[in-house]
Amino acid sequence: MERVVAKDYVFHRDFSKQYPVITHAEGVYLYDEHGKRYLDASSGAIAANLGHGVTEIAEAMAEQAKKAGFVHTLRFETKVLHELAAEIGKMAPPSLNRVYFTSGGSEANESAMKLARQYHRDRGKPEKHVVIGRWQGYHGNTLGSLSAGGDSKRRKPYTATLAKFEHIHSPYCHRCPYKRSEEICQREKLLPCAEELERLIKEIGPESISSFICEPIVGSQQGAVVPPDGYLQRVREICDQNDIVFIVDEVMTGFGRTGTDFASEQFGIQPDIITFGKGVSAGYAPLAGMIVSDRIVDSLIENGDGHFIHGYTFSGHPVSVAAGLAAVRYYQRENVLSNCREQSVYLFQRLSELQQKHSSMGQIRGKGLLIGFELLMDRSQDRMFPPSFGAAERLNQEAIKRGATFYPGSGTIDGTNGDHLLIGPPLTITRDEIDELIAILDQALTAFELQVH
Ligand code: PLP
Repeated sequence: MERVVAKDYVFHRDFSKQYPVITHAEGVYLYDEHGKRYLDASSGAIAANLGHGVTEIAEAMAEQAKKAGFVHTLRFETKVLHELAAEIGKMAPPSLNRVYFTSGGSEANESAMKLARQYHRDRGKPEKHVVIGRWQGYHGNTLGSLSAGGDSKRRKPYTATLAKFEHIHSPYCHRCPYKRSEEICQREKLLPCAEELERLIKEIGPESISSFICEPIVGSQQGAVVPPDGYLQRVREICDQNDIVFIVDEVMTGFGRTGTDFASEQFGIQPDIITFGKGVSAGYAPLAGMIVSDRIVDSLIENGDGHFIHGYTFSGHPVSVAAGLAAVRYYQRENVLSNCREQSVYLFQRLSELQQKHSSMGQIRGKGLLIGFELLMDRSQDRMFPPSFGAAERLNQEAIKRGATFYPGSGTIDGTNGDHLLIGPPLTITRDEIDELIAILDQALTAFELQVH
């Protein structure tokens, strides 16, 4: 086929679609080549936490690129790398102090799972190799990270090549897979969703399990579902009792998204490894990584000659790290997290008002500015859309037509979770901009409901 214009040379993620061409972006808005404005209600992929056009981040990147655009961290380091690692180490729970950088969240999770494996091997337990993840979790699209996650749509074409990892269900009290109510679980102090981990460990044998990985709040797979009180603490206990490395994937929840630096803080847990991405550079450059506990680092030094058998060309890339450092300073100086907490209250309030008007809006949940709602055919009858209808994607298309974009997601297995819309605007969003977001969502929901009924 003859290629006519430059865009014909792009391998599009979905060749059936036409994508608007963005020429510039400012604050919470993206602008396309025809001058149309889109309110970025999902911070891209929940990454552009500080909004667009922050010149001091762009300048820090340019300055670093001029000084030293590439430094191979296998042999050399940079001052910006030290400074960003120190800032992140200080944000993390007290026992996690060493920061390893990657380019994306998938690579960060690959690194964490490999480090957990090496940790056990170095300590004379080479048989500990299995990773346990959750069916409703997402950890990235590289083969290892995809194996740890449970998204059946993303996994299906690659099933034969995926690693043989194990999975449990994640808690979803609103549609509990164990048919229990949160009140009963809390009264009886028994969370079957956490006990399932212990049951699976017993079944497989703790001697073969290396790590357990989960998101503290399920992002793209379920739309901001928060676990019940005590769940993550119980998981921590189970991992300790069975010598399993507990990896908490904060790629989406980290860097203020849920109102604190890391969501782990709000759940009172100290994971062995926290992975991060997206918000660390506020989306200005590909940057992600993991923060590793002193226990694992000490073991690496004592038992493994201090050598992590792993690495990427772009690990600790100076320009990305410079973007991260400028972003972290901006978060701190501009008190971005306090704006996030304040606007979260307002956005929740506005969404519950909107819910009164729209029968397709189901449960609203989340923390900070990571908020999701279930999309239902009819709330009064609690009917979900069939996955083939692509409800969330359709709703988002209606929103895009009207000048806002969200993060749609659809359910996967067991019929326990259906479609949802994830809302994650830049943490710098103002009250007026939230009003505009709600007005567009209102119109989009009206148009969407007309398609359905
Ligand atoms: N982990 C979580 C929780 C995510 O939400 C994502 C991306 O959406 C990833 C990992 C993968 O990150 P990346 O797309 O940067 O590889």
